[in-house]
Amino acid sequence: MISEDIRRQYTVTIGIECHVQLKTKTKLFSGADNDAREAAPNTLVNHIDFGLPGALPVLNEKAVELASRAAFALGTEPQRFSKFDRKHYFYPDLPLGYQITQFYDPIIKDGEVTFTLDGEPKTVRIHEAHIEADAGKSTHPVGTDYSLVDLNRAGTPLLEIVSEADIHSPAEAKGYARELYLRMRYADVSDANLYYGNMRFDVNVSVSKTSELGKRTETKNLNSFRSVERAAEYEVERQIGLLEQGERIVQETRGWDDAGQKTFSQRSKEDSYEYRYMPDPDLPPVVLSDEYVADVAAAMPELPDAYRTKFSAMGLDAKTVEDVIADPGAAKLVGMVYDDAGPDTAKRVAFWLLRPQEDDETAAHEVEPTEVNTASQVKNLIALSHMVAENKLSSTAAKEVLDSMLKTGESPEAIAETKNLLQVSDEGAIAEIVAAVLAENPKAAGDVQNGEMKAIGFLVGQVMKQSQGKANPALATKLIKKQLGI
Ligand code: MN
Repeated sequence: MISEDIRRQYTVTIGIECHVQLKTKTKLFSGADNDAREAAPNTLVNHIDFGLPGALPVLNEKAVELASRAAFALGTEPQRFSKFDRKHYFYPDLPLGYQITQFYDPIIKDGEVTFTLDGEPKTVRIHEAHIEADAGKSTHPVGTDYSLVDLNRAGTPLLEIVSEADIHSPAEAKGYARELYLRMRYADVSDANLYYGNMRFDVNVSVSKTSELGKRTETKNLNSFRSVERAAEYEVERQIGLLEQGERIVQETRGWDDAGQKTFSQRSKEDSYEYRYMPDPDLPPVVLSDEYVADVAAAMPELPDAYRTKFSAMGLDAKTVEDVIADPGAAKLVGMVYDDAGPDTAKRVAFWLLRPQEDDETAAHEVEPTEVNTASQVKNLIALSHMVAENKLSSTAAKEVLDSMLKTGESPEAIAETKNLLQVSDEGAIAEIVAAVLAENPKAAGDVQNGEMKAIGFLVGQVMKQSQGKANPALATKLIKKQLGI
């Protein structure tokens, strides 16, 4: 471990490249299915993905629309003119011999992402973002002398988002990664399922004691916010350690060993690749009209910041707001409840629906977001919230009703009725039970009359028991005091 004193002498500089898988039905340039999740190897491949001679790519319009939405989610607009280039390199999982990407004229330039870290706003500028085709996947079975190639992912549309080197700590790196994830999900650009690698982060880290940037390393293919933070932290420590020993940093590509929680050298970048970029003659430029861009803007869903503003105004603290926002489905429901029924009702619903966001693994494995965003769902949530406010349901009972309500779509009244959960707020009925309880427990009743208010809890408990949990406890307390004349 490097001491705090030494660490303070260094400026940490981090830039992040993020590959986001665009949620199209088919691939970027072919009609093959884009959902490679459970498919057998090489089953989602056609002549274009194989790179057969004479096969011509046709741009998937949906990918352009999703990238345009991403532009708005990144605080800018899509470029009216962009085009595709060939990036040449040779690898078995790249049958064309080049990757089709946007090198000279990317679809997004000069964006900006602001998020909150420890209560302070942090802005990271976006240098550019470009559309490109993914490569296939190579596997190297242990103990064999061959490699396997699966081209199911070859041609999957990606948006590569390149940040400026505006990030200055591992915690900021994690915050930025999470913010990108949220924005891509809210903008409905990507399923952003981290477990399936829908978003992968490459983290460039350097340290320096002077105003000149240090040599940087790039740790590739991180697929969780936590690994982004840990890999950055590991590189900061490793690089400062080397420099303090008088050694130099080798500019290189590194991998992340999740089991060992460390980075490892993959290949040196001393002699940087010559990719021989050139415009792809098979693809015409992408030209977007003002009208097209305006239509995309008009169809943009609300982004996390809009919800942050709304939920803060509801009186939720910053941490709770982030917990609600972690699930776009939940945030949308709470937002609709707020619009229809106001802050108190929405606040109660928010606490029912939030999922704690600190557990990074949950995000990584999350498959099912809260679903069914219908008007009836909102109506039911409002009704349920009102039932609690009116003491018709205890908060424990409300949770039970909520679970089955979200599953079945039935009304909370019907569910509470069927499950026999309605609280009795009928004064007469509870007064009878109270009278019986006081008669059966003269000692506790006497204690309460003598000012020992602890005993009243016991009496309320007895009332709850005799009413099979359905008495409204506040009303029971009131009636006990009334009957004891205090
Ligand atoms: Mn890339």
